[in-house]
Order: sequence, then C-alpha cells, then structure tokens
Amino acid sequence: MSLKPINDILGVLEQQAKWQADPLALILQSWAEVVGAVAAIHSRPLSMQRDVLRVATSSAAWAQNLTFSRQTLLLKLNTKLSMSLVDIRFSTAGWQKPKDLFKPPTSVSPQEHPSYLGDISSSPPVRKPTEQTVNQVFESWAKERQARSQSLPLCPQCQCPTPPGELQRWCVCALCSVKQSSHQGTRNT
Ligand SMILES: [Zn+2]
Repeated sequence: MSLKPINDILGVLEQQAKWQADPLALILQSWAEVVGAVAAIHSRPLSMQRDVLRVATSSAAWAQNLTFSRQTLLLKLNTKLSMSLVDIRFSTAGWQKPKDLFKPPTSVSPQEHPSYLGDISSSPPVRKPTEQTVNQVFESWAKERQARSQSLPLCPQCQCPTPPGELQRWCVCALCSVKQSSHQGTRNT
C-alpha cells in the first residue's frame, strides 16, 4: 500500500476543512472563472446560507441573466470546488460599486467637512479653481447688478432703485404701488 493515496485523501480533507471554514472566500477566488470575466464585473458573491449562495448583481438585468444559467453555475461550483450548493440567488440587494468597496470606512476627509478652512499643502487641487471661478462669477454678477441699479432712478417712497417704466406708470416702484393700492385712501406723503 503506497502512501500517495492517503496523502491525496488527507490533502482533500484538509482542503475541504479549509473551505468549510470559509467557503465564500473560495467562491470569490474562482468566481470570475465560473461566471466569466464580464459577468464577474457585474456580480459578487455575498454570503452562503444553508447551501444557498447569495450573489449581488449590478442590475436587475444581470440578476435575471445569471438566474437563467443558475444550474450551469451550480454544477461548475460544486464540481470545481467540491461543494454541495443547492441554489444561487441573484439580486441587486447589497450591490456596491467596486469604487465604494475599496473606500476606507472613514470616508469623510477633513477637506470635506463644512468647517474646513483650507490647507495650502494638502487641499485638493481640483476644488480651489472651481470655488474661485464661482466666486468670480458671483462677484462680477453682483458688480454688474450694483452698477445697473445705481444708474436707476430712486423710488420717491422707499428710495429703492426703480426701473423708469415703473416710475412713469405709478410715480413709485411696483412694490410701493402695490402697497398703495392695498391701502386705498391712506396715502403716505
Ligand atoms: Zn418704492
């Protein structure tokens, strides 16, 4: 009797023990091989519950698509990984974009905090020009508005810059004319 078969059996048992401890890790490892490279981008094994594998998909279409080939995938997983899965459930629940997955749990950086005042060395280079541009646009708009209103005649009642058309019509600004008409008879001087 040679030792080889025993070693083989031991090896298999050892592997099985390892997989039973963390079968999901094993599935994840060979997932792309089982479903294919494209489908692997749009699906991710989430958990195993009583020999049912739960897989998150990027869209409902992918869940449907993969559900159709469920039996083939089951067979592949069970033979390839010597597992005894009975079903695979595909759903969009629990799907996260790969980008989010690799994000550290503390996702709020100091720069993102509303109270953050800015740091010369570590502030993101993209943000500053954007803010400056926004400020510049607002400033020029405010200046233009101010200049325009300064050239306007003032309402004799409230001293606000008023379009000449309004003064021609009501002798006061539109706002004051509304106030006057709502207080009929009580004319202010
Ligand atoms: Zn007025």
